Amino acid sequence: MLITTKKPWSEVQEMAADYQTLGIVGCGDCCAACQTGGSEQIKEAAAKLTEESKKEIVFSFTCEAPCDQRIIRRDLRRVSKELSQVDALVVMTCGIGVQSLAHVVDKPLIPTNNTQFPGSAARLGAFYEYCSTCGDCVLGETAAICPVTMCPKGLLNGPCEEVAEGMCDVFGYQKPCAWTDIYARLKARNSTDYLQKVRPARDWSSRMSPRQVVWAR
Ligand code: SF4
Ligand code: SF4
Repeated sequence: MLITTKKPWSEVQEMAADYQTLGIVGCGDCCAACQTGGSEQIKEAAAKLTEESKKEIVFSFTCEAPCDQRIIRRDLRRVSKELSQVDALVVMTCGIGVQSLAHVVDKPLIPTNNTQFPGSAARLGAFYEYCSTCGDCVLGETAAICPVTMCPKGLLNGPCEEVAEGMCDVFGYQKPCAWTDIYARLKARNSTDYLQKVRPARDWSSRMSPRQVVWAR
């Protein structure tokens, strides 16, 4: 999922200052899990905008996947009359949701969230980055521990010389070295052969944004 955090409310108020009538679009998936755009957060935002900023909320809804242009287009069709009455939309999604919306509706958009990283939820309120979306996954050779992400230097061929007693210098030796963890897990599975492989330097030009995957028709 994509991990989001709330923007300071003052930023949202500033962006909404020029508009009187608003619609609110939330996200029923990742942002609901992060409590940045689910139905409860929509209610809170609507109350603040109405009571503190004296705005009129014409409609609000939670979209199951606002990052999917087909789904957000379908949902907006259901409120087309109300949509025509609003000056702007308050968008409680990740940055992808905001930009997907911008592709399907011609209204000013007011994002309420900061998008942090693609992450994993260990429990409610504890989200961790495991993947840097490098586009050339090595997890099959590294015991499912990502060296690109979990090693702050992104090293692909074993630990750097700063590692000490299995701990990483970048974190002041307070966190384990990713390569120590990779070695331990591979050793436990008798799979250390993987460590003999030398991975050539990456061609990071393939990582240049904006990227796309478009199926041939
Ligand atoms: S190697 Fe790491 S950053 Fe690259 S795709 Fe796999 S998990 Fe993501
Ligand atoms: S100590 Fe390990 S995790 Fe830290 S930078 Fe060096 S190789 Fe990467």
